Amino acid sequence: MATAGRSRSRPSFQELSDSVVAIGKGAARHCSRALRERPHFSLAAVALIALGVVISMIPSGPKGSPAASVKPLELPQLSASESELAQPRVLTASVGSHPAPAAEREAPAESWQIVEIEPGQTLERVFRDLGLSAGLLHEIVTTTEQTRNLARIRPGDEFAFDIHPEKGFRALRTELDEEAWLFVERAEDGLVTRTEPRHVERRIVEASGTINTSLYNDAREAGLSDDMIMRLATIFGWDIDFALDIRDGDHFALIYEEVWREGEFLRDGNILAARFINRGESFEAVRFDAGNGPDFFAPDGRPMRKAFLRTPLNFARVSSNFNPRRLHPVTRRVRPHNGTDYAANTGTPVWASGDGTVIKAGYTRANGNYIFIKHGNNIVTRYLHLSKKVVQRGDRVRQGQTIGHVGSTGLATGPHLHYEFLLNGVHRNPRTVDLPPADPLPAEHMEDFSRVGEGLLARLDALAPPDAMLASREVDGGCKSVESSC
Ligand SMILES: [Zn+2]
Repeated sequence: MATAGRSRSRPSFQELSDSVVAIGKGAARHCSRALRERPHFSLAAVALIALGVVISMIPSGPKGSPAASVKPLELPQLSASESELAQPRVLTASVGSHPAPAAEREAPAESWQIVEIEPGQTLERVFRDLGLSAGLLHEIVTTTEQTRNLARIRPGDEFAFDIHPEKGFRALRTELDEEAWLFVERAEDGLVTRTEPRHVERRIVEASGTINTSLYNDAREAGLSDDMIMRLATIFGWDIDFALDIRDGDHFALIYEEVWREGEFLRDGNILAARFINRGESFEAVRFDAGNGPDFFAPDGRPMRKAFLRTPLNFARVSSNFNPRRLHPVTRRVRPHNGTDYAANTGTPVWASGDGTVIKAGYTRANGNYIFIKHGNNIVTRYLHLSKKVVQRGDRVRQGQTIGHVGSTGLATGPHLHYEFLLNGVHRNPRTVDLPPADPLPAEHMEDFSRVGEGLLARLDALAPPDAMLASREVDGGCKSVESSC
C-alpha cells in the first residue's frame, strides 16, 4: 500500500475516544459540533470499531490496490488562517524571571530521572520515592496557575526530575499540553516556571478510495482511521444517507492534516476538503472559517450543514441486509410504504433529523410507540415502532437530539425505525428530497473561500474526478428502491 513516509498502527480505542474529545476541545470545534451535540457518536465509535473488526476479517482485494492510497501532499495555496495551521505553534517562552542557560534547555539529559505515573500513583508518592519533601511539592504546585494543574495527574503522565546529589531539587519538567513543556526550576530566590514549545507540525496528506465492500473496509484500506471515517461521514451526513445509500463504485477523497510531534505521529488533524461521489452524484466540502469557527462549505459557499440529517440514527448501527418490503405480517398483503426503514438493534438511539417541536408522542396498534415532529417550512417527520420515547408532546427538539430508541412495537416484524418525511402533508423520500438551501457565505468571505477552495478542489479532482460515475441517483418522491421500503 502506498504509505510512504507513514508508519504507524491504527489508533486504539482509547486514542480514538481521546481524539474525539480532542476534536471537541480543539480548533475543529465547529466541524465537530455535530459530534458534541450527539455524544452517542462515541458509542457509535465502539460499534464502528466492532464493525470494522468484523469487516476486516472478510477477505478483500489485494492491499495496495491503486484505488486506495494515502500519500503526503504539498498543500496548494492557502489563506493566511489556514497556512497558520501548518506551522508549529510557538508559545511565549520564559515565564519565570530566571530563564535557565541554553544548555539546560535541551531535553533532559541522562542525569534527569524520568517518572511515568502509574495507575493509583500520586505525586506525593513520587516525591517521597525520590526523596523530595511534601513541602517542595506544595511549593511547586502553588508557584503559578500552570503548576496548580500538576495536582491533577493521570496515569501515563511523564515527569522528569533534575536532582543534584548534594543541592537537591533543581528542576522538573512535564507536559503542559500537546505542544509545550512546562519547566519548574530552582532559582536563587525560589521557584520559577517557563514553557518551551515542542516541534509540532501538521502534515497535509490525501487519501482516496472506491467502495468495493463497505465504506469502513475501503476507507480503512485507504489508510483512514475509524475516527476519520466517522468525520468524513459526518461532513456529508446532511446530503447522503450513509446507512442505506452507499453503493459499490462510490468514491471518496479527502485532504487532511496529520499532527506530528518531534518526528512521531500524534493524531489525525483536520479534514481540509473532501469529496464523496455517491451513485454518480458528487458532493464536495471545504473547511473554512468565516469568523465563527471553522465549518464545511460546498464549493458555491453554501454550508454543508442543513436543516435535516439524511439518516436519523447512526448509520453504522443499521444493518443493510434487511428487506421489510414483504407481505404484511398481519394482513398478508404488500402495503404501500411511505417511509424508510432502518433495521437496527432494539435500543439504538433515534435522533431528531431537524430542529422542531414534538406534535405527537403516543402509541397505536399499528405504529407502536411513535413520535411526530413539526419543523419549519411545513415539514413533519415521523418515527415509528420505537421501544421507548424520551420526549413528550410539546417538547422542542434540536437536530441530532435523541428522541427515542429503536424497537419493534406495533406492526413490525423486527426491530427497526420507520421514518417518514412529509412536505406540505405529502410523503417525500427523506433520503433524496430537495431541501431549501441554506444561505451561502457572505460576499465578503467568498473571495477568501474561493482561494482556499480552488487548490483543494483541484487536488480532489485529481484524486476522484467528479464525473467518475455515470449511474443516476434515485428519483425523489416516495420509496422507490426495493431495499429501502416495506
Ligand atoms: Zn416501514
